[in-house]
Amino acid sequence: MTDVLDTALRAAEQNGGRKVTKITLKIGLMSGVMPAYVQSFFDVISKDTIAAGAEITIVRDPAVFVCRKCGVKTAYTELGPEYLCQSCGSRALRLSSGYGFQIVSVGIL
Ligand SMILES: [Zn+2]
Repeated sequence: MTDVLDTALRAAEQNGGRKVTKITLKIGLMSGVMPAYVQSFFDVISKDTIAAGAEITIVRDPAVFVCRKCGVKTAYTELGPEYLCQSCGSRALRLSSGYGFQIVSVGIL
């Protein structure tokens, strides 16, 4: 999250902004980041910066697995007790997306 703050502050600086008002984040389902805590954590770390009070919007990125047996992709939008290939039922899956964490946009005033 401190990376997010740094990036937002840098974006504001490069664009001559005086305040960061909004940040949109894309958070992968498998990233380990809990969306419920993102705003409050950000509020704490951004307290004495021009990003204080910025509103965080979160876009969830589903987890997409590729089956090692049949190659079919299966997407999960919720964390599950286990992940199976929707085509052959195999558990031998490789995660191909949904583990990342990225900034989609930064709103600057
Ligand atoms: Zn399969």
